[in-house]
Amino acid sequence: MKPFMPQLVYIEPQALDYPLGRELKSKFEKLGIEIRTTTSHNQVRNIPGDSELQQYRNAKSTFVVGVRKTLKFDTSKPSAEYAIPLATGCFAHCHYCYLQTTLGNKPYIRTYVNLDEIYDAAEKYMQERAPDITRFEAACTSDIVGIDHLTHSLKKTIEFIGQKEHGRLRFVTKFHHVDHLLDAKHNGNTRFRFSMNSDYVIKKFEPGTSSFLERIEAAGKVANADYPLGFIIAPLYLHDNWEQGYLELFERLEAELPHYARKDLTFELIQHRFTKTAKNIIQKRYPKSKLEMNEEERKYKWGKYGRGKYVYQTEQANHLKETIQTYIDRFFPEAKIEYFT
Ligand code: SF4
Repeated sequence: MKPFMPQLVYIEPQALDYPLGRELKSKFEKLGIEIRTTTSHNQVRNIPGDSELQQYRNAKSTFVVGVRKTLKFDTSKPSAEYAIPLATGCFAHCHYCYLQTTLGNKPYIRTYVNLDEIYDAAEKYMQERAPDITRFEAACTSDIVGIDHLTHSLKKTIEFIGQKEHGRLRFVTKFHHVDHLLDAKHNGNTRFRFSMNSDYVIKKFEPGTSSFLERIEAAGKVANADYPLGFIIAPLYLHDNWEQGYLELFERLEAELPHYARKDLTFELIQHRFTKTAKNIIQKRYPKSKLEMNEEERKYKWGKYGRGKYVYQTEQANHLKETIQTYIDRFFPEAKIEYFT
């Protein structure tokens, strides 16, 4: 797939006080992309479209160049201490995307150009916790790799954390546009994770993302660039021939990854789940989706504040978990399984 290019760009006037804001403006001008100014991202309301659905789709190809005002970072437990805010939103259309419920009615992509201010805040968080390590997650509210060919803010952040004794960075992506990140001076401080799945799941439910083979090839490149590597296999989904589908994933990864990269490899395993709210949104936005969300076939798992979710029945979940664990033990015996949930 081709790298993302927005159809419409909004620039907040304050963003032009920063070098990255000016750089992006001139880049989009040269590309001939329509640019509008907006005083605040909350005013990005006039996204064209005849219906709500069309507006949603157009918003997902709208790029807002803005300034991050809140420099208090959200926590990102358990995999990191803080979410480092570089961008929000994503242009892809994964049916089960978590952003559909978390970003509400702001599905456009917004990038922050005041990187030095964001780094100053990160520095303070690291100092507060030193000598303990502080981990920052860069993909809590977007797929940051998918837009980084435009901004290079992830690359800068990798290099910023690369210089920090007490800092670590992590993120996850479904995109293969990693070439510009391969020479970043990461110093082993960044864990580069790919969100992977069976070819079937990627084809059916993840429109607008890089393909199965593109992601695997990109993981090989990242491993060869000496980044600590990880995979989130999510959502683990029971489809026809799923055992074969996931086996193929591990066989391909095994063939792609250099031996030295396998010693420090992590896997995070997340079974498919949905909430009632998410199901309603998915049915509205992707009415033709074949994503199975039948409450009667699932187990209800109570969550915090009474907000539960539907997961697989215990027996199915155990079968999934054991199958994937067997594959990991067989192909990557030195890897660490961080969790199955
Ligand atoms: Fe959401 Fe990630 Fe898919 Fe983007 S790539 S739509 S962030 S799940």
